[in-house]
Amino acid sequence: MNLFDAHTHLDMKHFQNDRDAVIKRARKAGLVGIVNSSIGSGSFRRTLGLVNKYEGFIFHSPGCQVSKLTDDETIEIINMSRKYSNDIVAIGEVGLDYYWVKDEAGRKAQEPRFIKFMDLAMDLHLPIVVHSRNAELEATILLEKYFEGDVLMHCFDGKSSVAQRVNDNGWFITLPANFDKHNNRREAAKIISLDQIMLETDGPYLSPVEGRNEPKNVIYGCNALAQIRNKNADLIAETTTNNALRFYDI
Ligand SMILES: [Zn+2]
Repeated sequence: MNLFDAHTHLDMKHFQNDRDAVIKRARKAGLVGIVNSSIGSGSFRRTLGLVNKYEGFIFHSPGCQVSKLTDDETIEIINMSRKYSNDIVAIGEVGLDYYWVKDEAGRKAQEPRFIKFMDLAMDLHLPIVVHSRNAELEATILLEKYFEGDVLMHCFDGKSSVAQRVNDNGWFITLPANFDKHNNRREAAKIISLDQIMLETDGPYLSPVEGRNEPKNVIYGCNALAQIRNKNADLIAETTTNNALRFYDI
């Protein structure tokens, strides 16, 4: 069975003591690739190290969701890194967070940044990985207005009406390994075409088991999706893996 973790954070400190063992376990569990999303300058650097060490297995999607850098600094780092390697397979995660940011001004302030990174992705002809926590509809409206290219709504948790819109736009979603515990995600898993669904862990977060999450756990999402769509797990693994390889152009 070939599996793919389309979004995770192996550079984080949660993995500092046993990162290589985690990656070894992922390979043993049948994973053929992992996309690591960096979210700031230290994270970017650590991800470069991982991508070099595990060439052809770990790929890089640089974003800025919790970065302390200015947007221009982040963009400069991404552009510079692109000169030396082709390991960057997408831009993001970037988008809107209405879960942590509750005030209207703070929410609005995220929009220019989101649009700036959409422009970057279009300039580089790369797909975009979108963070849209409690802001799925708002992110969808902005993307429809400003972005042309492939979109992945990572950890999608929007209502059915937004899931339908994402599907009709031909965009992708990722389902995390514990997605079946969330109503919106279960519904999205029924609505979105199987050709537009990938699996992710978002490790160390969103674990389907006690403790830290890690890439080998994508199998939990695979089995849950197989059950919901009434397909066998091998077919789900193959389809979601092919979707990831196609989306990231690997
Ligand atoms: Zn993430």
